[in-house]
Amino acid sequence: MKTILIVDDIKENLYLLEMLFQAYGYKTISANNGAEALGLALKDPPDIIVADILMPVMDGYSLCREWKKDGNLKNIPFVFYTATYTHPKDKEFAMSLGAEKFIIKPQEPEVLVQMINSVLEEFSDKDTLEPEVYDSSEVTLLKEYNETLIRKMEERMLKSEAAEKKIRIYAAQLEVEIEERKRAVQALKESETLFRSVIENSAEGFSIIDESGQTIVWNNAMERLTGLKAKEVIAKTAWDVQFQLIPEKERVEGLKENLKSIISELLANGEAPFVRKMLEKKYELPDGTIRYIEGRIIPIKTEKGFILVSSIDNITDRKNSEEEIKRMNEELEFKVFERTSQLEAVNKELESFSYSVSHDLRAPLRAIFGFSQILAKRHRESLNKEGQQYMDYIVEASIRMEQLINDLLNYSRLGRKSLEKRPLQLDSFIKNIELEFKQKLDEIGGVFIVENKLPEIPGDETLLRQIFTNLIENAITYRRIEEPLEIKISSESKDNEVVFKISDNGIGIQKEYQEKIFNIFQRLHSDEKYPGTGIGLANVRKAASMLNGNVWVESMVGKGSTFFVNLPSK
Ligand code: ADP
Repeated sequence: MKTILIVDDIKENLYLLEMLFQAYGYKTISANNGAEALGLALKDPPDIIVADILMPVMDGYSLCREWKKDGNLKNIPFVFYTATYTHPKDKEFAMSLGAEKFIIKPQEPEVLVQMINSVLEEFSDKDTLEPEVYDSSEVTLLKEYNETLIRKMEERMLKSEAAEKKIRIYAAQLEVEIEERKRAVQALKESETLFRSVIENSAEGFSIIDESGQTIVWNNAMERLTGLKAKEVIAKTAWDVQFQLIPEKERVEGLKENLKSIISELLANGEAPFVRKMLEKKYELPDGTIRYIEGRIIPIKTEKGFILVSSIDNITDRKNSEEEIKRMNEELEFKVFERTSQLEAVNKELESFSYSVSHDLRAPLRAIFGFSQILAKRHRESLNKEGQQYMDYIVEASIRMEQLINDLLNYSRLGRKSLEKRPLQLDSFIKNIELEFKQKLDEIGGVFIVENKLPEIPGDETLLRQIFTNLIENAITYRRIEEPLEIKISSESKDNEVVFKISDNGIGIQKEYQEKIFNIFQRLHSDEKYPGTGIGLANVRKAASMLNGNVWVESMVGKGSTFFVNLPSK
């Protein structure tokens, strides 16, 4: 087994070569520099030496020189294996020192072994142990050695100058960068101080939860609104804090776990149905006070997930007044309901009272009317002029009385009538009514105009007839003599209702009476000029309200009136 002496100052290189040569069946001896190698070789000469050049204590060139000077060693082949000395002049110098081979690092392992093998083979062929004769004298050798070293040093210097230049540029860049960083850090500090003071002094409560769910900001307003101090809350998880604020009575089982899973989900994805929306919550403060708050949660994306910024405001006063208004409304509604029921009962009572009164009054009235007529016919002659006049008054008054009683009876009957709703085609319905008035209209030279196609509505025929005939009758009664009468009917459909307009160009109604005329027996004119009992419009209003509708008037004295009837269309 051949022995290779390996010389290298770098441990890893030594180890690598040892492994390689051993794998190929060589025995290896290692040395860290030329001097060590020389010592080892003198003691126990190897079969070949593989040496690096650049080494401390004694470099490869010096080693080779000593090697080839020594009577024994000079017959052992010397191989340079270098990564630093790669110039052709380096090789030239090495060979001039008597080296057998100059190999430049790195080489493929097999190739290197191959080279070593062939050096050994070549060497064994020349079995003469004739020392190589240097043709160069010691002086030339030293000169060359010197030149090689100088060259190497120059190369090194150039290299290190370039490196130094690079380092200087880096250092300058680094300085600029450090300066910029410093400025940025300062700016950040300033903006953070500003941000903190804005947050701290905001009237709104602010809190910030970090990506892990821990509370990192809890401002002064938050302390006031929740009664929890920042030092009690900071570093606590959002679910713990929220749980603490939920009124004790509302802390159902599993609530905290629920809060934790909702908030964790939000921290991971930045999404939840309530995010960015105004939320209302009820808090119970540590002293037991109940406080209503309104707030928003905004997730902000960071590299690690989301942080949550919450802002809240106190709405306890508003909430309390809302509650109060709600309570008052409910109370009011109840009162209205109570009053309406009372009113309905009174109305019913009144209706049945007027019904029975008018009904019962009819019999004695008929007797008065009948006997006064007989009296007027048969015994007129036996009365003097004055007596005859009184007689006529009695007859007239009883006729009027009968009219009034009949109207009253009709009015109370209307209220007792059961509704018979069915779809009614208003167009043909109004045409029929118009026919009933045709003769009268022709007589007075009046016209009746339907301005648009009237719709179909669900209605009770009797009630609708009551409404329209009364209004048309009034338009005829309260016309102006100097102007030919014009009655116009039109309709306008809105959402679920129809508004009918019945207008005339008659005498009109003064503003202050426009509401009163719908009351029973309310009349504005004397009987002589305009006959009537004052019950027509009361009937119209009653009929409209029985159909869940309404009636009102707009009018100008001397110009005419428009009656509006609003009825459901479905
Ligand atoms: P009556 O016609 O029997 O007096 P109504 O209840 O029908 O009773 O009318 C009440 C009052 O309203 C009438 O006396 C009249 O003064 C006034 N009025 C009703 N309709 C009209 C109208 N179209 N133009 C002017 N005045 C009217």
